[in-house]
Amino acid sequence: MQTTAELAAQIGSAGDEGGGRIFAVANQKGGVGKTTTAINLGTALASVGKRVLVVDLDPQGNASTGLGIDRHNRRESTYHLLHGDIGLERAAAKSNNVPGLYVIPSTEELSGADIELMGEKDRAHRLRNALRDAEGRAPAGYDFILIDCPPSLNILTVNALTAADAVIVPLQCEFFALEGLSQLLRTVHRIRKGLNPTLGVQGVILTMFDGRYRSCEEVARDAREILGDLVYQTIVPRNVTIAEAPSHGVPVLMYDNKSPGSQAYVALVPEFLERENCSI
Ligand code: ADP
Ligand code: MG
Repeated sequence: MQTTAELAAQIGSAGDEGGGRIFAVANQKGGVGKTTTAINLGTALASVGKRVLVVDLDPQGNASTGLGIDRHNRRESTYHLLHGDIGLERAAAKSNNVPGLYVIPSTEELSGADIELMGEKDRAHRLRNALRDAEGRAPAGYDFILIDCPPSLNILTVNALTAADAVIVPLQCEFFALEGLSQLLRTVHRIRKGLNPTLGVQGVILTMFDGRYRSCEEVARDAREILGDLVYQTIVPRNVTIAEAPSHGVPVLMYDNKSPGSQAYVALVPEFLERENCSI
């Protein structure tokens, strides 16, 4: 079996299919900062003038809630998108509070996807087919599309990895984080062999860093040692305003833009754009 470092080196950088760029924000562990990263990196990118679409692919719908789309307002959702009932343009709703940010909300119906899509030939390609044209180009109307994945490697995550140009991995600074990461990298590797040969890993973002714990420091150090430049320099600290913002239905940048959590997501933007060879 390959080591995490070997897998990371082999997976390398992302392919380029033209149009906007599509990212799966993925990690099969729950509570590591996927949704927080999709919401706040999306908001920070929109705040520098990029057109961003957040696709909520988690039946829990936390990204939709965190972006202020309440449950009664989700008639057109990723569920309908996956079933081909509606197209991308109809599904995408404008965020109420972040200019330039669009969101396709999710509903609990999505939790049936594994069973509903079982036996369907194109079950892994549903999202790709919805997001890309026949030539594989992403929609030109968006600079970046961030897919917020559920906390498992189920058919929804497989759809995201099949649709994406690259994966962004939030890695919580805690003891077992790196074990989970190697499982994810193996999945990416497998997807590259079959469903999506150009899938890359854009970067690993260390989240919920708390300098009071030695284990946090150790995970951050080990991640850099094993993964090298795949790891973003900016580290997102554990910060209570990040946890408070979703209950107000706004990204932390709108809730308290001076907080250390907000500042971290702002600081990720130039690094993100550099990785994309893209200026502000
Ligand atoms: P995931 O989508 O991976 O399950 P979330 O982004 O929903 O994870 O984060 C899990 C919980 O931790 C949420 O309540 C969120 O508000 C909180 N959280 C995320 N990042 C931070 C952070 N940097 N500091 C404090 N709380 C955070
Ligand atoms: Mg989530």
